[in-house]
Amino acid sequence: MHFDQLGLAEPILLAVREQGYTTPTPIQAQAIPAVLQGGDLLAAAQTGTGKTAAFTLPILHRLSQSEQARDAQGRVIPRVLVLVPTRELAAQVAESVRDYGKNLKLRSMVMYGGVGMQPQIDALKRGVDIVVATPGRMLDHHGQRTLNLSGINTLVLDEADRMLDMGFIHDIKRVLALLPKQRQNLLFSATFSDEIKTLANGLLNKPAVIEV
Ligand code: AMP
Repeated sequence: MHFDQLGLAEPILLAVREQGYTTPTPIQAQAIPAVLQGGDLLAAAQTGTGKTAAFTLPILHRLSQSEQARDAQGRVIPRVLVLVPTRELAAQVAESVRDYGKNLKLRSMVMYGGVGMQPQIDALKRGVDIVVATPGRMLDHHGQRTLNLSGINTLVLDEADRMLDMGFIHDIKRVLALLPKQRQNLLFSATFSDEIKTLANGLLNKPAVIEV
């Protein structure tokens, strides 16, 4: 199996090659075609399996093939929301999005607490296609009306088990209630507790299930 066989656009393949990757990891080989088809996904994957590229690459492809979303003022608003448990993971995922998307005209930003709101607000004003966020700060922005969620058509919950362990279930439920109903949902978790299964059952519509 080679990356070229997965159906990803050339600018993305170029970025993948520049990263030095030649062969998709098992989760990438399974998840990328499933995500490209637009359906929901439930993936059991630990860190180190290549799970970040497994969702980022097909999401970038889908974004590159569709129109930007705009608010009433014509500002570019996010189409993809990636929720993660920690700042560190947010920064890491955002860096992957930048690396893999470097040859595309898409804008991404990272949003987490413990730092000033203003630079994040400025980035949103300039226009953003992809937001990588921790739930609390994302809700703060929504509450201050600095984040428009009406264009979100793809949601990723990364390390969902850690999010639940850290007590984010209520924040996640609040976020879910704010998103447009028509969307693709991808849930990644290292473990499958009953709590994760309940979350997955409520969130996912006939998901492809992948375990690596
Ligand atoms: P992750 O599981 O997403 O945290 O990725 C773990 C590490 O594997 C990261 O350092 C990636 O840059 C690297 N990686 C991801 N996909 C591949 C691949 N197909 N070939 C080689 N390295 C990869």
